[in-house]
Amino acid sequence: MEKDTGDGPTETTTDESRHSDETASEPDPDTSGDEPADRQRSSSEPSPNSSPDTPTQSSDSPVETKGYREEPDGGTDEDQSNANDGQSNANGAPDSSDTADGATVGTDGIDGFSGDVELGDLDLDTDAEDSGETDEASRGLFDDLLEGEPIFENKEVLRPSYTPHKLPHREEQINNMATILVTALRGDTPSNILIYGKTGTGKTASAKFVSEELETTSRKYEVPCEVQYINCEVTDTQYRVLAQLANKFIEQNEAYIEDRLEKLAELRDLAAEDPAELDDTAFGSVAAVENRIADLEDDLEEFDPVPMTGWPTDRVYSTFFDAVDYHERVVVIMLDEIDKLVEKSGDDTLYNLSRMNSELENSRVSIMGISNDLKFTDFLDPRVKSSLGEEEIVFPPYDATQLRDILQHRAETAFKSATLSEDVIPLCAAFAAQEHGDARRALDLLRTAGELAERDRTETVEEKHVRKAQEKIELDRVVEVVRTLPTQSKLVLYATILLEKNGVHNINTGEVFNIYKRLCQEIDADVLTQRRVTDLISELDMLGIVNAIVVSKGRYGRTKEINLSVPLDETEAVLLSDSRVGEVEDAQPFVQARFDN
Ligand code: ADP
Ligand code: MG
Repeated sequence: MEKDTGDGPTETTTDESRHSDETASEPDPDTSGDEPADRQRSSSEPSPNSSPDTPTQSSDSPVETKGYREEPDGGTDEDQSNANDGQSNANGAPDSSDTADGATVGTDGIDGFSGDVELGDLDLDTDAEDSGETDEASRGLFDDLLEGEPIFENKEVLRPSYTPHKLPHREEQINNMATILVTALRGDTPSNILIYGKTGTGKTASAKFVSEELETTSRKYEVPCEVQYINCEVTDTQYRVLAQLANKFIEQNEAYIEDRLEKLAELRDLAAEDPAELDDTAFGSVAAVENRIADLEDDLEEFDPVPMTGWPTDRVYSTFFDAVDYHERVVVIMLDEIDKLVEKSGDDTLYNLSRMNSELENSRVSIMGISNDLKFTDFLDPRVKSSLGEEEIVFPPYDATQLRDILQHRAETAFKSATLSEDVIPLCAAFAAQEHGDARRALDLLRTAGELAERDRTETVEEKHVRKAQEKIELDRVVEVVRTLPTQSKLVLYATILLEKNGVHNINTGEVFNIYKRLCQEIDADVLTQRRVTDLISELDMLGIVNAIVVSKGRYGRTKEINLSVPLDETEAVLLSDSRVGEVEDAQPFVQARFDN
């Protein structure tokens, strides 16, 4: 996924895509499940005299106020506090220490603030050992959260934004890509590649890894070869894709020209002194060099970045085309989540990109499409389909053993040693293997389990944390899916829930439809036909929200038996939080009435 380590070709990563990934796929346990009880405890503990801390206070504390350390023996709390006040103000100490002043704010210090918060002790570097029991007594609001006994060494390693440098079990796919793309390093056009695989099978990570290697090697051998990465889930129209590409190439052309100008200016100066300097160059005279400089400066003037909206698409295309063709190079355009682009905007972009090579004079373009949807080419123009699919590489789901390897690798840097109990990784791997071998899910589980353990203030992550993490992630997913359903689907789902709440199981379509109709009337919504409602039920089934099986009723034909496959209460709460659906004040009476009939 998008990297944030900053050690790669960042120009291939868009800010927007990074942003989208962060927000799209991360259950964020940090924002929920606070533990008010614990905070209560730490902030209402009796205030000890803070002076015992003083001698052991670590001297390298970056936020410690000067005044605090200069008074090792202290006096009364009050004395200290006064002394500190003077000191920190005189030194213009930063706000954080200014407000804290290393002194204890007693119960009577601030109205309505019963705790003794000692922010002066805030020290990010303090080890658990250093903070000792003396600190324990005077912990502030953030102390527990900051210090504790952290389980993680480097949590970032488990986030989707981290690009691993090793991708176990993807050697074959990576080698295949490299074998095709090496052509670019020989100055020829690589075949277009289409990569398929379900989410979390390592497509993005592998593609980025390969593109970094490709660019590194091209720099090493000074072969002009560039990779442009676009996440089509974010950049999802032809205009935007072309505009983004155009602007990136313009940027690169500008850098290329600046570089040339610098060299030419140097050459001009040298040649002015000694004309022999021009011997091995294409220039016959200093004037020729100056002409070239003037031409390049003109070119630099002419580049016109594409605005994010407003131009006719053909103008965007020709700007992009000219920018690519400005100088000789092979360009690999990686279109990640290409299925989303086609779904949203059709295949025009792909059509235009795939026929470029016949018109380009200096450069060559090769396309690498990445799709989560195995059947997306069915929607493509046959010409686009055959051009794009010159080479196909499939990323199969990981099995539990492979997931275990992947997790093991990442866990080594992510966690402090000996913090994972034995069964944690195998269990995360097993859960994720059920989830179509999704490595992203496996990593999410491991990270969330660690966070839950951290909140429990335990020293190790246990199996139970993994199970809790699985529930949490599953629930987060359900909530998100239900929240974003269209109103009509929400009403159908709510009808199903009402029936289940009334003890009906194996609900049939007709029953759902009747309740649905009443709900629509209640809130003045359009009533769809039963046939459409049946379709919506199938969609809910595909989303894993209900389970609908077709059963034969003999001579009465066939019907669906529907059961809810998500937690009832949470789902109902999400539905009722919708402003429209929430208008249904109390649906029980008419559900009940239906059974009385
Ligand atoms: P996809 O693009 O197929 O949906 P990603 O490449 O984004 O999947 O992978 C999902 C997550 O799993 C990322 O955090 C990625 O770093 C990690 N991952 C996937 N495959 C591997 C692997 N073989 N080794 C290590 N990490 C992997
Ligand atoms: Mg991906």
